[in-house]
Amino acid sequence: SIPLGFFGGIGAASKNGILIKGSNYLEALNDVKYAVFDKTGTLTKGSFQVTKVHSTGRYTEQQLLEYTAYAEQHSTHPIAASIIAAYGQPISDQQLEHYEEISGHGVSIRWQGRSILVGNARLLEREAIPYAAPDHAGTLVYIAVDGKYAGHLVIADEVKQDAAAAIASLKQLGVKKTVMLTGDVKAVGEAVGKQLGVDEVHAELLPQHKVEHIERLAAAKGPKEKLAFIGDGINDTPVLAQADVGIAMGGLGSDAAIEAADIVIMTDEPSKLATAISIARSTRRIVW
Ligand code: ADP
Ligand code: MG
Repeated sequence: SIPLGFFGGIGAASKNGILIKGSNYLEALNDVKYAVFDKTGTLTKGSFQVTKVHSTGRYTEQQLLEYTAYAEQHSTHPIAASIIAAYGQPISDQQLEHYEEISGHGVSIRWQGRSILVGNARLLEREAIPYAAPDHAGTLVYIAVDGKYAGHLVIADEVKQDAAAAIASLKQLGVKKTVMLTGDVKAVGEAVGKQLGVDEVHAELLPQHKVEHIERLAAAKGPKEKLAFIGDGINDTPVLAQADVGIAMGGLGSDAAIEAADIVIMTDEPSKLATAISIARSTRRIVW
């Protein structure tokens, strides 16, 4: 039978917008020594804004925005929403001739007889399309039309208000190592990591690389130590499953992530991990 104290702990967590799916996860929270964060949508707002449209001259800026908006119309990635907002016009129901979302890269479509790629540098490199790398540190979305680089968008994100406090309070609770994993470029990843005081930053990762980092950290931890991963869940479902405690953002997360997670943070605040650990500790004091 489950000790009554656990129900108190799960109840206290739920009053704080933290959904814990079982008393075993509440128990595991006590021993979290490694806290691994996804960047986009977890430590940052994931509400990107297009701040610049650059065209090589082959298409107008408005045409590039139209191509990217049509490419992104079915994507749930936070980048997609920002592009559709920047386009600012209704998207007609003209059928795409081809649509493919390439995890950790971007989107590929065929529309109005044109092949359009929208995504990061890696996506263009994969297709061996030469491009001009702008000396801009922000997140860049490249556009290629019919196999040729056509321009890029500069996209800005902001760190969440409680992100620095989220990292600092984990350290106070005795978490040994905080880690940020991101698919975003090094310059952006390192700038955010430094700003927040994260111990380790790994950037330019594909979803399977994130799983490998979890496995590496898991191999380094002591037998009683637990690893928590916290992400918005877009592309991160395998990572959530790999962690001892997989935590999804309830508002921003995908349905699949919320399903795969052991704990769901309804308020999307990364600082709720520290709150959950504190609740787990007081619950343990009552139970034992
Ligand atoms: P993260 O959440 O850590 O940024 P993701 O795996 O979700 O990692 O995405 C990695 C990178 O892949 C993004 O930073 C972006 O450059 C690119 N990307 C993924 N999906 C899209 C998309 N729909 N449109 C444009 N770029 C994308
Ligand atoms: Mg993500």
